[in-house]
Amino acid sequence: MSADANDQCMSVAQQWIRPEIRELSAYHVPDASGLIKLDAMENPYSWPEQLVDQWLESLRGAAINRYPDPDARQLVDDLRDVYAIPQQAGILLGNGSDELIQLITMAVSGSMSSGSMSSGSISESNATRTIVTLEPGFSMYRMIATFTGMDYVGVPLRNDFTLDLESLLAAIETHQPAVVFIAYPNNPTGNLFDLEDVRQVIEVSPGMVVVDEAYFAFAGTTVMPLLDQYENLLVLRTLSKMGLAGLRLGFLAASSECIEEFNKIRLPYNINILTQISASFALQHHDIFEQQTACLRKDRESLLSALSTHASLTVYPSQANFILFRTAQGQAEQIFDHLLEQGVLIKNLHKSGGALLDCLRVTVGTAEENDAFLQALNSALIDVVETR
Ligand code: PMP
Repeated sequence: MSADANDQCMSVAQQWIRPEIRELSAYHVPDASGLIKLDAMENPYSWPEQLVDQWLESLRGAAINRYPDPDARQLVDDLRDVYAIPQQAGILLGNGSDELIQLITMAVSGSMSSGSMSSGSISESNATRTIVTLEPGFSMYRMIATFTGMDYVGVPLRNDFTLDLESLLAAIETHQPAVVFIAYPNNPTGNLFDLEDVRQVIEVSPGMVVVDEAYFAFAGTTVMPLLDQYENLLVLRTLSKMGLAGLRLGFLAASSECIEEFNKIRLPYNINILTQISASFALQHHDIFEQQTACLRKDRESLLSALSTHASLTVYPSQANFILFRTAQGQAEQIFDHLLEQGVLIKNLHKSGGALLDCLRVTVGTAEENDAFLQALNSALIDVVETR
């Protein structure tokens, strides 16, 4: 067949969409209708009714016919105050922190010009730039590296999911990455790495180190104060996990020079007016979220001890609002399905394979939801043993 004839047999998508994109699977979100939803690290609590009324009132004045403030200045000021972001740091807002991961990656992807190379390891002047991160880790780092054409290196955590600092430092030395992503605490494992280890990574990295603090509200520890010391440190946060997942707002705090550069590729008006007003309103009532997250932290501990009573499960420590556990070999799928039959949706990580074989992840919900999960798990474990 001639090249032309061959082209004619292909669909437009086959012919024009890059093969590496066609090979990707879209980020899958299961339908949770009618289920107790403990799969996505959301805050299960809503606001008191009186606050909802005040919020709706604050939206009344939104000039929906106009474009929003492209720099969302009020919201940026509110975030700086509430989260104690150092005055000299710049702030960039994203439509969720996912968008900011994409933006950082787009800004650094492409060939490395010889002028920007650091001494040593990389010899080819047009080598593709590299992202280094930890595995198991947040799946978006790999997905975004793929569709921005970057090389991706995932450094395995140890068997107990603690950080193998030596291997990470060796990977940084070998690959001279443009960006290192560290989720702190890590998703999907839930643990927090040692702050001194993270500091060492920042110190030896030739490029940027993004410390992704999506679960900051549940860990209570942060690298934010280190922004003053390290020009290559970028701190990524989201309002999703603390209770505003529906708004889609993430922010990045970093040197004002980096933020200015990222800002050039941010699409104008990426933060809509309803999000700007609602997030500012929510930040004025930050105490509500603090109460809710304190309650979730307490309930996480109860859930951890309840899960630990099951001898067949390995339960991993968590500083986030979710818990990772490993079932006995070959039981994860069945337990997941049993939970689903009983109306409880958690996350099946067994499918990811590798270090996550036999692993499931549950988000901390309300006390009632956690009880329903634990009850369903009890009967799932009995059923699985009986059907063996
Ligand atoms: N970082 C980490 C570590 C996450 O787990 C998530 C979401 N699961 C995100 C970033 C993205 O959050 P969002 O886009 O809702 O801000």
